[in-house]
Amino acid sequence: MPNGFSWSELGVDSARLLVIKDVPLPDEGRDFVLYWCMVNHRVEENHALDVAIALGNHLALPVVVYQAIRPDYPHASDRLHAWALEGMADMATACASRGLPYWLELPRTSRQHHPRIGQLGRRAAAIVSDFFPTYIIPGHLRGAARALNVPLFAVDASCVVPMQRIPSLQAGAYTLRPKLQKLWPEYLGRTLAARPLEAASAGRKLEPGFELADAKHARANLDGFHIDHAVTPLAERGGRKAALKALDAFLHEKLQGYDTGRNDPGLAHQSGLSPFFHWGNLFAGEAARAAIRARGTDDPSVRSFLEELLVRRELGFNFCFHTPENRQLSVESLPGWARETLTHHQKDPREHLYSLEQLEHATTADGLWNAAQRELVARGRIHNYLRMLWGKKILEWSRTPDEGLQRIAHLNDKYAVDGRDPASVANFMWVLGLHDRPFQERKVLGKVRPMSSPRTAEKYDLAPYMARWGRPGDPPVKLKRARGAPKP
Ligand SMILES: Cc1cc2nc3c(=O)[nH]c(=O)nc-3n(C[C@H](O)[C@H](O)[C@H](O)COP(=O)(O)OP(=O)(O)OC[C@H]3O[C@@H](n4cnc5c(N)ncnc54)[C@H](O)[C@@H]3O)c2cc1C
Repeated sequence: MPNGFSWSELGVDSARLLVIKDVPLPDEGRDFVLYWCMVNHRVEENHALDVAIALGNHLALPVVVYQAIRPDYPHASDRLHAWALEGMADMATACASRGLPYWLELPRTSRQHHPRIGQLGRRAAAIVSDFFPTYIIPGHLRGAARALNVPLFAVDASCVVPMQRIPSLQAGAYTLRPKLQKLWPEYLGRTLAARPLEAASAGRKLEPGFELADAKHARANLDGFHIDHAVTPLAERGGRKAALKALDAFLHEKLQGYDTGRNDPGLAHQSGLSPFFHWGNLFAGEAARAAIRARGTDDPSVRSFLEELLVRRELGFNFCFHTPENRQLSVESLPGWARETLTHHQKDPREHLYSLEQLEHATTADGLWNAAQRELVARGRIHNYLRMLWGKKILEWSRTPDEGLQRIAHLNDKYAVDGRDPASVANFMWVLGLHDRPFQERKVLGKVRPMSSPRTAEKYDLAPYMARWGRPGDPPVKLKRARGAPKP
């Protein structure tokens, strides 16, 4: 560690910390410690901010929170900007209440973007940021490391059990689960600090040296940004306040029965929390502890929720953490059996081959798939069970597995407000066999798990789903009779 101090003496769990730029702390003459917030858009329960505050207190320096959103990130749109800005407005309020200066920059065009971190790094004693093993974040950290002459730390505030505590790539949930379970008593029991860490130099006046933006004003004026205006904001709001409200509603209205109801697209038993986790508005540990407090660890619905939230979600982080970025979305990174079987069946004739436009506009011969695609476009995600079906069909309807994978990623990440996440990456790859087992061999998919719309319609009562997302011109979906409905 720089200048020989110990993180544990500052109350920091070093398993959460990655040293991105390893240089000594400057001796003196610095104005602040910077928290460069890229992923975890929250002030409470934020390990990265707590590291910055612990370091600031140690150095007797204030902590400045800096956020920026460029207009040229992949899939930049009104939808994603709106969600981010709603979260940033909550960040501004929360920082103000803690006496932390909040500096926000919102370039409207890529030409207005200023590489600010290098400049702020000349005033900072150190920079603390978020660690996230996919999307543009690792590249931003590498770029910043090149521009800085002060230490740069990235903190894992995404996972309940820090990614570094699982030192190897896991084959599936069955290998990860027991490892996590051993560590849960340590990590789920532990709150970040007994109470929020107080920044000793809070309230000290500092000048940013550039014009600050206002998130609320920007949210009301999305037209001014050079981003895709065709992907429109969701009716649902982003941000910390909305996240806490959604968590509360889930605990009171949907947690009971989650275990039996979550897979049924006709029942609204899922939490709907994935966008809040993706944008860091909510820490997964908060949701886990709240569910345990509400119904206890022995409750089947709590166990089922924790399986998704703590095992399946962290399996995605494990995959991205241990897979180089340029191989995360690649047939090469599948288990051997999946790679072989997909390659073997690559030339099999496909029943349908659709263009990206046909998929995007939901004009396939599969009425249920079209409905799921419409849900994605309008609601910014798809019910989990149908999301699996949606991905499987794109794979079947593409010329090669690689093309299928790229098209799943493109459509998901363009429209889904929870996209561009380790859970996205691992699930796109799950469609092709990652973290899964071989099934009986068939055309096109080989031994990769198949899913079909008629089978889904036999299994679940899809009438409520089709009533919402189906359209009169769609190919018909043979609906299962609702329980108790009279025979035709
Ligand atoms: C093709 C495909 C694409 C997907 N893309 C995304 C994506 O872009 N972003 C995303 O967060 N999830 C993605 N998933 C996983 C899953 O569909 C969503 O996490 C889930 O539907 C989110 O809804 P919820 O918050 O109501 O989930 P709940 O059922 O309430 O689950 C609680 C939390 O557990 C986690 N979780 C649930 N299911 C999974 C899973 N299968 N894998 C990993 N974590 C899970 C999420 O964080 C979720 O918020 C994808 C799945 C498939 C098959």
